[in-house]
Amino acid sequence: MFEELKKDDNLVYKSIKRELKRQREQIELIASENFAPVSVMQTCATPLTNKYAEGYPKARWYGGCSYVDEVEDIARDRVKKLFGAEHANVQPHSGTQANMAVMMAVLKPGDTVLSMDLACGGHLSHGHPLNFSGKFYNIVAYGVNKDTECLDYDEIEELAIEHKPKLILAGASAYPRIIDFRRFREIADKVGAYLLVDMAHFAGLVAAKIYPNPCDYAEFVTSTTHKTLRGPRGGLILCRKDFARKIDTAVFPGTQGGPFMHIIAAKAVGFGLALKPEFAQYQKKIVSNCKHFAASMSEKKYRIVSGGTDTHLFLVDLRSKDITGKKAALVLEEVNITVNKNLIPFDPKPPVVASGIRIGTPAITTRGIEKDGINRIVDFIDEALSNRDDPGILREIKTKVIGFIQEYPLYLEIKDD
Ligand SMILES: *Cc1c(COP(=O)(O)O)cnc(C)c1O
Repeated sequence: MFEELKKDDNLVYKSIKRELKRQREQIELIASENFAPVSVMQTCATPLTNKYAEGYPKARWYGGCSYVDEVEDIARDRVKKLFGAEHANVQPHSGTQANMAVMMAVLKPGDTVLSMDLACGGHLSHGHPLNFSGKFYNIVAYGVNKDTECLDYDEIEELAIEHKPKLILAGASAYPRIIDFRRFREIADKVGAYLLVDMAHFAGLVAAKIYPNPCDYAEFVTSTTHKTLRGPRGGLILCRKDFARKIDTAVFPGTQGGPFMHIIAAKAVGFGLALKPEFAQYQKKIVSNCKHFAASMSEKKYRIVSGGTDTHLFLVDLRSKDITGKKAALVLEEVNITVNKNLIPFDPKPPVVASGIRIGTPAITTRGIEKDGINRIVDFIDEALSNRDDPGILREIKTKVIGFIQEYPLYLEIKDD
């Protein structure tokens, strides 16, 4: 499979092989990760990587763009159809770049943005002090209600009235519940703010129509393409027609140079697959798997933040088990289960330690794991955390995990050589 690479660069080749083996032998529960189809990965590795195409289809700064124009048009048409959007920009290199372009399009430095607190599930690009968003704009953060651990729309409305933001941002990286976009729209209208929905995490669920479509409510919608959407690593922006020019200018030349045409082609392939009925079935399975996972953890006396999930992810509060998120993630990695530590709402611990872990089911659902498989994973997790200081038992669990996950082969098309 990687004959040429092996010849040209054995060192990088060997690292890639080890990474492939890791992906095959670990149980992947990181909520933002997935396994892209081989056709999507193949498209990333094509001669389209060679092409400069600054600008947009039929309006490029370089010659020789007719075929990459075809590809970008296919990507834009498909993603517009997928989400019922009026305009699409498929050039952002990542979700962060998509957010940057929207902010650049409608804000001036110093303008106020109302967005979700990172500690309650928001994202770095929504206003973290070290991120461009926190440096250029005046960020006001909303959180979740202390009792329900869900968004408190009355509080968001009060903050909006008090601070008069120019932009309100909805969407999160670690929020297990469905967001009420209609209510966000009402709040934005009340104070004359733009509404940006960042659906990076749940875009696949939206495409499958099992999550409300933010394009029905927001002027701007941003997303990644590699999480539940299961395309290549990248970003996108959807907007109403009247903002098309502003958004396109903010992406190029505003915040990016030449687009990655090989990645845009892979996005087109991913969107094409997402338009098929099987994709909606897959998304439904992600959510039913996730609900089952959260309920099984709850049966083993793990506290689930907000009491459960409506989506592809949930948060576990580990305080009752007397273990930190950091330690839990390390112990689980020892037994080949990958999760990430995560702050829980009103976490007494700092972010590098954290009191919780985040668990997501997009990747294991891609591997074909269903409810009985999840029951076994829950047993592995509980056994590992309960025996966290016993290297012998952890080694035994790791062997069992590898045996288990190999029942769900990954990338059969990629041969070992
Ligand atoms: C993952 C994520 C992003 C950004 O993704 P990158 O591609 O890593 O820049 C943006 N917003 C939210 C809410 C996310 O979860």
